[in-house]
Amino acid sequence: MPLLFSSTNGQSPAVTLREAFLRGLAPDRGLYFPEKFPTLAPDEIASFASLPYHEIAFRVLSKYTSGILTDAELAAICRDAYNFDVPLEKVANLDRVHILRLDQGPTASFKDFAARMMARLMGKFLREDGNELTILTATSGDTGSAVAHAFHNIPGIRVIVLFPYAEVSARQRKLMTVLDGNVRTVAIDGKFDDCQAIVKRAFGDPALNHLPLSSANSINIGRLLPQSVYYFYAASRLAKPGEPMVFSIPSGNFGDMMGSVVARQMGLPVKKIVASVNDNDAFPRFLASGHYQKISPSRNSLSNAMNVGHPSNLARLVAVYGGQMDETGQINRAPDLAAMRRDIFSSSITDHRTRETVKDVWVKHQLLLEPHGAVAWRGFLDSLADEPLGDLPAAILETAHPAKFPEEIEKILGFSPAVPAAIAAAEKLPEKFDHMSAHYDTFKQYLLERH
Ligand SMILES: *Cc1c(COP(=O)(O)O)cnc(C)c1O
Repeated sequence: MPLLFSSTNGQSPAVTLREAFLRGLAPDRGLYFPEKFPTLAPDEIASFASLPYHEIAFRVLSKYTSGILTDAELAAICRDAYNFDVPLEKVANLDRVHILRLDQGPTASFKDFAARMMARLMGKFLREDGNELTILTATSGDTGSAVAHAFHNIPGIRVIVLFPYAEVSARQRKLMTVLDGNVRTVAIDGKFDDCQAIVKRAFGDPALNHLPLSSANSINIGRLLPQSVYYFYAASRLAKPGEPMVFSIPSGNFGDMMGSVVARQMGLPVKKIVASVNDNDAFPRFLASGHYQKISPSRNSLSNAMNVGHPSNLARLVAVYGGQMDETGQINRAPDLAAMRRDIFSSSITDHRTRETVKDVWVKHQLLLEPHGAVAWRGFLDSLADEPLGDLPAAILETAHPAKFPEEIEKILGFSPAVPAAIAAAEKLPEKFDHMSAHYDTFKQYLLERH
């Protein structure tokens, strides 16, 4: 019996992983989530200590794929997708604290982890069905390049990426606009929220029903599950068997953070999840007050991949704690807030404190962080003031490579980070993208004309 996934809105039938994957959003506009989490025995988790990353990915994800993929197929996909380093960097003079660098993939952000897995699985499902699909995705920077790269040249799939023209750095933009082939990029004169709203509307538009559309945003459960793997990996390197960890995760749409919740639901001992945000502070306010008010329009911050006014994954988090939140952010059943506060800490880090942190961490620890990682670091320090770490191990996630933010790092530290080979190669290629206003009808016309 394969595992079933139900919608957080509770109005659509439960489906298999395969279907949840291909649909993205449930028909009732809710998000798919496992009805019941598969678990890993403590011995099995302890055995990860000696395994390479791709093997841990296989052990974790195979709990979800039985009846959908053979073990041999999944193992091969994991080996192929995770062929890069996942460094854990020790922090000098902070006992048992490490930086988990998730920035060594082809587009130098943690989004490569999910996108590469998803592209391989989707490509396989479509080949089996003889179907074709258009992936429509909105990006605040890193999703677009990770998705475009991962799906580039996969037969049967077209990718259309929408990005807010003025909010994406030139380097972030180049990583997605130089690919061509089955990948199209569209610059929108608007914010990330406008891009996301256009994508959501396209999915719900009956006039587009005849187009096979799917999403690669973190609303897709296929994005979320692979993001649980690096928490197991970090614990396997840093924690003694059974010892709980603290993870600090810079959060925007809360997909990365939900990966840690999934890992915990599967049996990984986790003491605290620190989910820090930039000026888009809807979540820490909710955690403190129990009242949820989305930020609209979202606020621009240095950590631009986290400029999200209404994190869609909160619907899943609320569900884990027994509540129900719909896609607009309306809470129809309150979650267990006391339990949430016990498990999760969240603070909002201003741009001023973010810059200060990049500088401090460089001066005190000789570690280079970019703005997203700096939000995670500072949020971690805030959490220590709330609850000391004791002698438990902690991992602070660095979600992008500092070279993605050369202007900002130069301003703060007076030098420009060395550029990884993958980024340097993209910079030399010609860009190609379309450009339009944030009006839904303009985009709809564009989509219809190109099919
Ligand atoms: C997307 C992104 C985030 C936020 O991740 P969510 O899953 O949206 O919370 C953080 N840092 C970087 C560099 C990102 O690209």
